[in-house]
Amino acid sequence: AVPVIAIDGPSASGKGSVAERVAAQLGWEVLDSGALYRIVALAAVRAGVALDDEAGVAAIAARLPARFDAGRVWLGGDEVSTEIRSEACSSGASQVAALPAVREALLARQRDYRTRPGLVADGRDMGSVVFPDAGLKIFLTASAEARAERRYKQLMAKGLPANMHDLLSDLQERDARDAMRAVAPLQKLPDAVLLDTTDLDIDGAVAFIVDLVRD
Ligand code: C5P
Repeated sequence: AVPVIAIDGPSASGKGSVAERVAAQLGWEVLDSGALYRIVALAAVRAGVALDDEAGVAAIAARLPARFDAGRVWLGGDEVSTEIRSEACSSGASQVAALPAVREALLARQRDYRTRPGLVADGRDMGSVVFPDAGLKIFLTASAEARAERRYKQLMAKGLPANMHDLLSDLQERDARDAMRAVAPLQKLPDAVLLDTTDLDIDGAVAFIVDLVRD
């Protein structure tokens, strides 16, 4: 079978950057599953479908005209790379992700990313649901304070307004929703390797994972 590295963990743990760089070093494909949930939320809002309309949102997810290309994200003919990173899409993604029919509708599409020579998959349920047979499962995390601080620095660097207190409470709220939901709750699996990046930078996390693969 085509090898998979499943990287799961909470928001702002650095999963996206780590997954991308591990994939680049290995020459593997990368799947940003969170982006799919973000695009579904955006497509639903644009179509006027309520985010708690399970059948309606699942129908959108089932025929989502989403495309990833060299780090850019497309919804039909529109580039939505920036828009899907907004707070509205973050919150919308975590709402639609709580609907079982939406998760089911995205399953086959996510598995299609598994192509030679390998796949690095980033999300919340990569190791538990989408690729339970992944050869390497990583649970990437960091303290809530460290994660909020990273978000804060990213926003400041882009010249966007940022408030540490609000960021921390938003993060904790989203973590709680992702961890406590009935479908695909975020948790560290018994067969996953814990990687805590509170005191480790991205390069350190990437090197740690690449070393595990090459062993
Ligand atoms: O990782 P990211 O922050 O882009 O994910 C956005 C939201 O999508 C998460 O808060 C989570 O609710 C949901 N998600 C999920 N399963 C995944 C990836 C993301 O439920 N595999």
